[in-house]
Amino acid sequence: MIIEPIDAGQQRAVHLATERCLRRAGELCGRDFASIPVTFDLTGRSAGMYRVRHGRRSIRYNPYLFAKYFEDNLAVTVPHEVAHYVTDMLYGLHRVRPHGMEWQAVMRSLGVEPRAALLTTKFFAGDAEHAVIWVARDLGIRGALGAEIRF
Ligand SMILES: [Zn+2]
Repeated sequence: MIIEPIDAGQQRAVHLATERCLRRAGELCGRDFASIPVTFDLTGRSAGMYRVRHGRRSIRYNPYLFAKYFEDNLAVTVPHEVAHYVTDMLYGLHRVRPHGMEWQAVMRSLGVEPRAALLTTKFFAGDAEHAVIWVARDLGIRGALGAEIRF
């Protein structure tokens, strides 16, 4: 089955969710975080990526994986990537571990249990660190790990 990428309307929804998440983090931290460019050019097994390149920060989303698991990605991938950005702004990317306690604290403050880190640590170390719940589902490990990957 061919999966179509999310359409313009869904992209707008993801944009808005990202902005909302960022504003919420700003309120919780008592500071404003600048808007961050969002693109939908990610492919492969990662649903999202926070990137700093040549001093420019952006969040990239995978329009195909978002199409496949739209609600899960809105609920998890968006805060996940926003939390990377916020952690970068608060501490500096190289001063903390990617899914360390600082990132986890931001996730919790956004009302999301940082289970991605748990799954990442257990199953998807390295390059695939951002491919979390969707990959778990594709691999059929939902049953075995039901309690951990249900949101
Ligand atoms: Zn991450």
